[in-house]
Amino acid sequence: MRLTEDELKRYQKQLLLPEIGKDGQSRLKKASVLVVGAGGLGSPVLLYLAAAGIGHIGIVDGDQIELSNLQRQVIHDTAEVGNKKAESALIRLRNLNPEIEIDIHNERFTEANAHQLAAGRDGIVDCTDNMETRFLINSTCVILGIPFIFGAVFRYEGEVSVFDARFGPCFRCMYPVIPEKNAVPDPAANGLLGTVPGLIGMLQTTEMLKLILGIGEPLYGRLLLYDALSVSFRSVKIAKNPNCPVCGSGIEENHN
Ligand SMILES: [Zn+2]
Repeated sequence: MRLTEDELKRYQKQLLLPEIGKDGQSRLKKASVLVVGAGGLGSPVLLYLAAAGIGHIGIVDGDQIELSNLQRQVIHDTAEVGNKKAESALIRLRNLNPEIEIDIHNERFTEANAHQLAAGRDGIVDCTDNMETRFLINSTCVILGIPFIFGAVFRYEGEVSVFDARFGPCFRCMYPVIPEKNAVPDPAANGLLGTVPGLIGMLQTTEMLKLILGIGEPLYGRLLLYDALSVSFRSVKIAKNPNCPVCGSGIEENHN
């Protein structure tokens, strides 16, 4: 895919990186990424994917912007309060980079639309705040054979991983059982430092770009944990579960 004169200027700093160059930039231009959620994680993810020149970005979010979102959801302006997040994000991204295509979906990511929204994408970036949607993103990615870039935040902490059942564990290998609705703390009821989703979203975006470019070492089989208060990053290994209900045999071992 040829790059225009404007694109050669816009992406100059990336083109200068020998691992990227014109070939890498063309790969980014050809790529299509689905971002589920245009909130705290979605803000940096969408801004940096667009700025990097991802040729096609899909945005799924059924929510409206509230004033209390703006402390961390920096893609949205104060004047957009009350408007749809997907539409507000579209306006911002069009202004940032008119060279790329964007499709928006003012709806939740559900079993009814998941396959259609995700088909043909190079990956899904999880910018949601609930386990139910993450399980659905995971099973959709396993079926389609595409990576799932996981991110989660809580108070001063965040975590990131890349799940791709072709090369490592899937999300269900880590969480075999879907938790009861009330078993997981409601993120909306807890405080959150605004920079935490900013940082975690940036790490997710970096992983997505690396996968498309085929450079570096992806975060397969590792969960990266960030703690803002102690300024610590550590990663724990995640094993592939041969009996995983999604990417494995689905047969639970008998522990009697
Ligand atoms: Zn699995």
